[in-house]
Amino acid sequence: MNEHLLKILIIGDGNVGKSSFLHRYVNGQFNKTYKMTMGVDYALKLLHWSDKEKVRLQLWDIAGQERFISMNRVYYRGALGCVVMFDVTSSASFLSCRHWKRDLDNKAMLPNGESIPCILLANKCDLPQRVVPPDSIDRFSKANGFITWMEISVKENKNVGEAMRRLVQDILSV
Ligand code: GDP
Repeated sequence: MNEHLLKILIIGDGNVGKSSFLHRYVNGQFNKTYKMTMGVDYALKLLHWSDKEKVRLQLWDIAGQERFISMNRVYYRGALGCVVMFDVTSSASFLSCRHWKRDLDNKAMLPNGESIPCILLANKCDLPQRVVPPDSIDRFSKANGFITWMEISVKENKNVGEAMRRLVQDILSV
């Protein structure tokens, strides 16, 4: 049995749904008061990837950042994958993704010098008051070196597991 340990970062502006995503993915729940009660910024999840492979995910969520800030290199150290998240009802959170991705590429690198696989997630697609159109996301994703982008709803549990599987697949294929 092969076992992989993968450190994965979840970054993006405050209030886009990072903690909810982590909680949903790891515990299968959506809880509006999660952050207040738990304040967790680190979680583990074990995946039985195949007959021969187990994957231990170490998920890091930056708690409490309202807007983009340049992160300490320590946070990025050893990361093998990244989720950049925004909220489709907030164009400011979408614009910030450029800064988050740049900061990541400046500070996190694979041992071979390449940038780490990163997926762009457009959260809250259950809400009607969406302001960021898919073609803008698509263009941005391609221009900024994301492996792909996906629409998700943590609330409705749409594409949460799928997004993580896509990212892990990419990490393991490097
Ligand atoms: P963080 O600051 O990025 O960690 O964001 P939180 O996880 O604290 O979520 C911010 C707010 O958005 C909370 O009120 C969540 O309940 C809400 N939220 C998170 N994901 C979704 C979603 O998919 N749809 C909707 N409608 N609300 C969401």
